[in-house]
Amino acid sequence: MEKKQKIVVIGAGPVGSLAALYAASRGNDVEIYELRGDLRDPSTTPLNFTKSINLALSERGLNAMRHAGQPKLIDHVKAATIPMRGRMIHGKKPNGQLYEEAQDYDIHGRAILAIDRGGLNKRLLDILDEMPNVTFFFNHKLTGADFKKNKAWFEVKDGTVSGDKGQRAREIEIDFDFMIGADGAHSAVRYHLMKYTRMDYEQQYIDTLWCEFQIQPKENPEDENLMSKFRISPNHLHIWPGKKFMFIAIPSDDGTFTCTLFAPAEFYTFLESDPSGAHIPDFFDNYFPGVTDLIPPAQLISSFHSNPHLPLISIKCKPYHYSSSAVILGDAAHAMVPFYGQGMNAGLEDVRILFDILDKHARMDENTADHDPASTRERALDEYSRVRVQDAHAINDLALQNYVEMRASVLSPTYRFRKWLEEQLSVWLPSLGWQTKYSRVSFGNERYSEVVKKSDHQGKVLMRALTGLLFGAVGGPLVALGVVMAVRYRRAVDVGLRAAMGNVDSMVELMTMNR
Ligand code: FAD
Repeated sequence: MEKKQKIVVIGAGPVGSLAALYAASRGNDVEIYELRGDLRDPSTTPLNFTKSINLALSERGLNAMRHAGQPKLIDHVKAATIPMRGRMIHGKKPNGQLYEEAQDYDIHGRAILAIDRGGLNKRLLDILDEMPNVTFFFNHKLTGADFKKNKAWFEVKDGTVSGDKGQRAREIEIDFDFMIGADGAHSAVRYHLMKYTRMDYEQQYIDTLWCEFQIQPKENPEDENLMSKFRISPNHLHIWPGKKFMFIAIPSDDGTFTCTLFAPAEFYTFLESDPSGAHIPDFFDNYFPGVTDLIPPAQLISSFHSNPHLPLISIKCKPYHYSSSAVILGDAAHAMVPFYGQGMNAGLEDVRILFDILDKHARMDENTADHDPASTRERALDEYSRVRVQDAHAINDLALQNYVEMRASVLSPTYRFRKWLEEQLSVWLPSLGWQTKYSRVSFGNERYSEVVKKSDHQGKVLMRALTGLLFGAVGGPLVALGVVMAVRYRRAVDVGLRAAMGNVDSMVELMTMNR
């Protein structure tokens, strides 16, 4: 176990709060600096200015909380969730009839959990509040950091200093042993880290904006049971796939659904062009059939105009640390588009992996003569960056690919066939260890980079087996003819075979994409 250190955490979002919990439960002095006010104070403006995002929490996030040293945390968190066992695809048949089609996520019945991000965050803050070695500094914005001298500067907006032109912020300076930057996609820690380490950095805004809507509960439910308040199944993540667009709905435990419209920026411009909003219900009827029965047109229009239209960013960078002084976690290190439901899960998993590695190095160095926590931590952070970069990059890529799956592939017969086949194999031949990519990502804790490798391998094996079966069934009688032809027309057969091999390769490639 490392000696008592002063650890400062920047950002009290879900990842920063969990990191603070891990650090504090190892006996360190922990200070948490957060730009905004206390989330538990109703006057605090929520992140992204939206009521609150409903998220899909899955195994990686749960596993990270399971290892936080707080036995009751996981039960409290789970108590505020709703299991979603699959997707519910909504559409319209050619005869105009509306339909719903359930697609379970997992043949073994495992579910992901719908949770209110604010609720989860508050729960973590409440636990931290009770720890004597944790201090909060709300309304403190990190403005500068020197990672060689281990000093940081904050702008404090708590109204304690009044300037000539009304209230202005004061600045404070602090010292630290180790800084954990969990300050989100536009991270200030990352910005300052770049001045100290040769960080490769890549960011991409995808051509999609998101906007939040709400489906209200039934006004007169059949009985008092909460479940009967929901207007559509509470145990599914609802998707209206619209090829270029997508509308989704995630249940909340008060009977509402938090819905999100994902659409290219030009469609927002088109819909915004008429201040009366008259286009909006027509747009929904065209692309998301049935939504106007769940959200009255007037409410659709007012939500579209009053809720922000927000961009989606994907960020990759490496390394994640500098020396023994600082590391970035969560969105600060790898903001991703939300289509695999993994952003927060991956961020929480960062915390577990970071502390596993820190603990391992502390144990290794425990008995060395002049054990120095800083040099132990430096080696640990070096390993953390090496290990985690590959995995974070893998899930960033999967999240981008899954947008295609959610808005289009869910309707494709090839996609459904492969999912069905892999699930059957996982049940009937468990020793093969087959699983769908989705199950490996959402219901397991394997490294993301391993998930990609295994899933690509499964795709190739499946394609070869299917091609073999096809050739076996229809190709047998042709073989004899082929032998005769090969003798008589050697060159033509050669060209034909090359073309066929080319096709097999491209079919293999097709089968391994976006699954
Ligand atoms: P944040 O939640 O961004 O928290 C960062 C904190 O740092 C904030 O409190 C901020 O105020 C503070 N801060 C910022 N700058 C400073 C500064 N200079 N000084 C001090 N403090 C600062 N993830 C999932 O796992 N499942 C999902 O289903 C899912 N759905 C999503 C849907 C949408 C529409 C979006 C946009 C995201 C979704 N995500 C999902 C992603 C998830 O919201 C993020 O990955 C997660 O919130 C990241 O947590 P974080 O703590 O790293 O960062």
